[in-house]
Amino acid sequence: MKIICIGRNYAKHAAELNNPIPQEPVVFLKPDTAILLKKHPFFIPEHSNEVHHEIEVVVKINRLGKHIEPRFAHKYYDEIGLGIDFTARDVQARCKEKGLPWEKAKAFDGSAAVSRFFKLKDLKKPITDIDFHLDINGKTVQKGNTKNMLFPVDELIAHVSKYFTLKTGDLIFTGTPAGVGQVHRDDLLELHLEGERIFYFNVK
Ligand code: ZN
Repeated sequence: MKIICIGRNYAKHAAELNNPIPQEPVVFLKPDTAILLKKHPFFIPEHSNEVHHEIEVVVKINRLGKHIEPRFAHKYYDEIGLGIDFTARDVQARCKEKGLPWEKAKAFDGSAAVSRFFKLKDLKKPITDIDFHLDINGKTVQKGNTKNMLFPVDELIAHVSKYFTLKTGDLIFTGTPAGVGQVHRDDLLELHLEGERIFYFNVK
């Protein structure tokens, strides 16, 4: 199983990090060891002093596919969840400065927190209109709707499947809206999908 992540998929988030609006999806990967184990806290890794939260809609792939056309992409998923793409922003800044890859900043153990998954047909909402938000210690810090994606989910699937064969169980982190910020020890993170809290855990 692999985790495919999309960067800069919401204009306001690209702007808050002084990144340009991308002309095509920004893609990176996390290994399966990045998944935060169920019922475990997130431990801030020793190699960073500035880990940021990025709440994202996560799409679970349900069949094998390569070179998928946008109009067929909806056949390759029927469940979504929410995740946090934890990012060591200080490490990432050093990588970007030197033009180096991002993995040490983005793909470390525990850097992919993922909720349980929900059938889109049960949510009764199209993939292009999903509300989500992140509360930290009871205060909303990030709020998004998938309608604001620069590249919608079906286009992302078409794009990434040109490069990577998608397999059942693969996850796509679809990018974060504005409001990213640092997490601190003892923070409580609560992820909400369509107004309902579906996942929560602590930072240690
Ligand atoms: Zn992200």
